[in-house]
This record gives sequence, C-alpha cells and structure tokens, in this order.
Amino acid sequence: QRTERGRGHYIGGEWTDGNGAERRSASDRTRSDAERTFESENPATGETLATFQRGTAADVDAALAAAESAAEAWRSLSYIDRAEYLWDIYHELRDRHDELGEIVSKECGKEISEGKADVTEAWHMVEWAAGNARHPHGDIVPSEIGSKDAYMRRKPRGVVGCITPWNFPVAIPFWHMAIALVEGNTVVWKPAEQTPWCGQIIAEMFEESGIPDGVFNMVQGFGDAGAAIADDERVDTVLFTGSAEVGHEIAGNVGGEPGKLAACEMGGKNGIVITEEADLDIAVHAAIMSSFKTTGQRCVSSERLIVHEDVYDEFKARFVDIAADIAVGDPLEEDTFMGPAIEADHVEKIRGYNELAREEGANVLVDRFELANEEIPDGSEDGHWVGPFVYEIDYESDLRCLNEECFGPHVALIEYSGGIEDAVEIHDDTPYGLAGAIISEDYRQLNYFRDRADLGLAYANLPCIGAEVQLPFGGVKKSGNGYPSAREAIEAVTERTAWTMNNSREIE
Ligand code: NAD
Repeated sequence: QRTERGRGHYIGGEWTDGNGAERRSASDRTRSDAERTFESENPATGETLATFQRGTAADVDAALAAAESAAEAWRSLSYIDRAEYLWDIYHELRDRHDELGEIVSKECGKEISEGKADVTEAWHMVEWAAGNARHPHGDIVPSEIGSKDAYMRRKPRGVVGCITPWNFPVAIPFWHMAIALVEGNTVVWKPAEQTPWCGQIIAEMFEESGIPDGVFNMVQGFGDAGAAIADDERVDTVLFTGSAEVGHEIAGNVGGEPGKLAACEMGGKNGIVITEEADLDIAVHAAIMSSFKTTGQRCVSSERLIVHEDVYDEFKARFVDIAADIAVGDPLEEDTFMGPAIEADHVEKIRGYNELAREEGANVLVDRFELANEEIPDGSEDGHWVGPFVYEIDYESDLRCLNEECFGPHVALIEYSGGIEDAVEIHDDTPYGLAGAIISEDYRQLNYFRDRADLGLAYANLPCIGAEVQLPFGGVKKSGNGYPSAREAIEAVTERTAWTMNNSREIE
C-alpha cells in the first residue's frame, strides 16, 4: 500500500502542497482541509489509495509563472539536449514497466495487461519524441527566384497547458508532453482527478531526470484547475484530451483569444460495420474486444455494431454467447477480461444509458449490469462493478442511445440491408467521428469505408482499438479539432516561420 498523503503539486522544481503559501488567495485560505484535498480511490475495492492536494487558481498561477520564467533558457537548448531528459524517463518507464502497470490497474481499474500496455504506450511516445530530435524539423522549399533560399522553420510556441483524462493516465500525458517539451516549450500539466497517484509518479520521473526547474510543472486537482490553465493568457497552446463537453468549452473560450491555440481530442460513438462479406470469426473477436475491453471506457470503444442482414442472426448468436460469459472481476488477475467502472458516478451514468436504451425501444439481449454476487471478488463489494449490456434496436436517426457516448460496456446491434453505402450512412449518423472499423473480405467495401466514413481512425478487419504513436491520432466532427497527441501534436506546439534569404547583392 502506497503513501496515505500525496506529495502535492510539482512547481518550479519543488513539491508544494500550497497550504500556507503566501500566494494563496484570501478565498483559498478560508477553505477547510476537506475542500483542499481529494482522494484517489481503487475502483475495484472502493479503498482510498492516498489523499492529494486540490490545486487552486493560485497554484496554477505559480506553475505558469515558473513555466514562463524557464521558457527562454529551455528553448535555447538544442533539440538533442532537450531530448536527453526524455531519454532518462524512457529508461525509467521501461525499468518500472510492470510496477507502474500495476499502479495504473489499481488506480483506474484497468485489467492488468491494459495497465501495463498504458506504460508501454507511454515509452513508445517518449521514444518517438526524443528520437525525433535528431530528425529534420522543417523544409527547404524551392523559391521563384534563383538567388533566394526559402525555408520553413519551426519554433516553440512557449507555454503549453496539458489537461488529460483518467483512462490512459500514463500514456496520454506523455502523448501531450513529450513532444511539447522536445520542441522547446515549457509545460503546466493537470492530471485527471481520478488518477493523481499516476500523476505524482510521472512528476517524480521528471524530477529525477534533472530537467531544469520550471520546465515541467504539475498541478493536481479538478476541472477548476484545468479551466484556470486553459483560460490563462500566459498559455500559448492548450492540449486537451477528454470529454466533448469539456473540450468544446475549452476550444470555444480559446477561440476568442487571438494567437492562442487549443487542440482537443474528445469522445466518440464509434461503430463497427460488419458486411455480408465478413469473416465472422474476425467480426466476433473485433466486436468483443472493441465493446468490452477496458470496460468500454476507451475513447475508441465501439457502442454500435452495424451488421448486414445476411449475417445478422449468426453474428448475434455468437456475440451474445460470449458477452454473456465474459470474465468480469479483479483487474489484477491475469484472466480477468473486464475490470470495474472508474467511479460511482460513472456507474450511474452507465445505468442511465442502459435505461434510456430500453425506453427508446431496445430489445435487450444481455443485461449483466448488476453483476451476480458470486462474480464480485471477495472483499470488493464496494467496487464499482458493471457487466456487459447488449441490445438490438431498429435504426432511427434521432435515438439518443445511438448518438450519445455512454463510455461503458453498452453496445447496440443494428441490422442493415443494402450495400456498403447504406452501412456507412448509418455509421456516419452521429455527431461524433473518432474511430470505426469495417469487417469485410471485399476490398471495394473496405476502400469505400476508408474514404467515405466520417472518421479519424479507421480499422479494417481489426478491433476498433489501438494506437501507434507514429500515426496521427484524432477524430473529426464533434470528436476533435487539432491533434494534441502523437506525431501530429508537433503542429499544435510549434509555430512555423517562412524564412526567405537573398544570397545575392541584387535588390529585388
Ligand atoms: P473529462 O472531460 O471529464 O476530464 C478530462 C480532464 O479535463 C480532467 O483532467 C478534468 O479534470 C479536466 N476538466 C474538467 N472540466 C474542465 C474544465 N471546465 N476546464 C478544463 N479542464 C477541465 O473526461 P474524463 O472523464 O477524464 O475522460 C473520459 C472522456 O475522455 C471520454 O469522453 C473519452 O471518450 C475521452 N477520451 C478521448 C480520447 C481521445 O484521444 N480522443 C482519449 C481518452 C479519453
């Protein structure tokens, strides 16, 4: 069992709990201890892992001041010198892979293989960002005039604010920060309030790397601390990954500030199209993995299975058979397929969407929402347990259950007839456009889906999950604007300069 008390925020190279600091405003000083702290909870057991300081606007102010004062010296280092600090963290992530994977699993309830995969993905991102320091960072461009050199050069934007969700508590922060830092920006980061322990460990890694004080800063806390970062005029770029509701609010606010940029990755109402040409072994595997892995709490999880009438009955029978039997339980056990939901409020949200589907006409095929007592691990009665909920429903455009992200193991089967065009029409009929898959042996259908479906991430004959850091990661429509993650984040954290230079003494 880890510490009962977190170390506070990491600001300007120091740990601080903010209590008693002069910078605390009068309104902060009147808050009780309970209001100043919050708890990290193990969602599988309900036990408290540790208590953390809740960051205020004053803490964010101090972190931004530190980031601003460190900016000039940091951007003056070479790319390769900056990357050296990240290489230290890369080794740390690899050396402590299993230990950190277990902490991820304990703090956010992911099954252990997923907890470890979160750490693996973080090291992949750090490896890519630090390695990229030795790659070209601009373009030499032909000029209309023979004596002129024309270049596109990049420079850092300045201070980058990073706001991250709980469901990939190690990978996503590095998706944002590794690139922002190597490109020469300083960072103020707020981890999700559900995963402050992971946040603290990441901050400890930066501390141990010896990165100059103020280059990396971390403020623990809730949405008010996130908003204080996003709204502050000292922040040049906001990188946000999380819900559409919050992301759109941030993008809207930032949109009013000239020169400031927000890149937001948000949720999805992802679908898998299973055509009459599908290999059903692949289809069933892809649908099970996409609907239930991480308890359906991935931005790319699928909540809609759009199945051709010719294969509908067979697919349904096989999918339902497995969903009814999936192992829900202790995320630290290797043979658990699904762990708990993240928190009590989220269980209620999932319950609400299951009820909504019934109200909107669902024929429920599997309802394991209330897990049977014998399925709940001993001593874990206070965990936030939910099981698969599978229903079939006649497609109608404006059903809320087919349009809103539930973010749980809640999935609809929709039967379609006609061709791939009809399937894609149903697929695209949501406000979101993050991830989707097609299962088919017909390359024309695959290509049609790739080119026409409203998506940022399209998978063919694969589960609708997975990310590779060297590929863009993001969505369209309500799911994303700009890319805060992986390779494309370079665009969000750098400015381009078009540099033209006259090599002759002629005046043009
Ligand atoms: P969330 O939007 O509730 O919180 C995300 C972060 O924003 C947290 O750190 C939170 O404290 C902060 N925040 C909350 N209100 C804020 C405000 N007004 N201003 C600034 N910051 C604020 O999301 P969550 O519950 O942590 O994560 C789940 C959501 O994230 C799902 O919708 C999921 O689809 C999405 N997600 C998207 C991706 C992607 O890459 N597209 C990846 C993972 C998760």
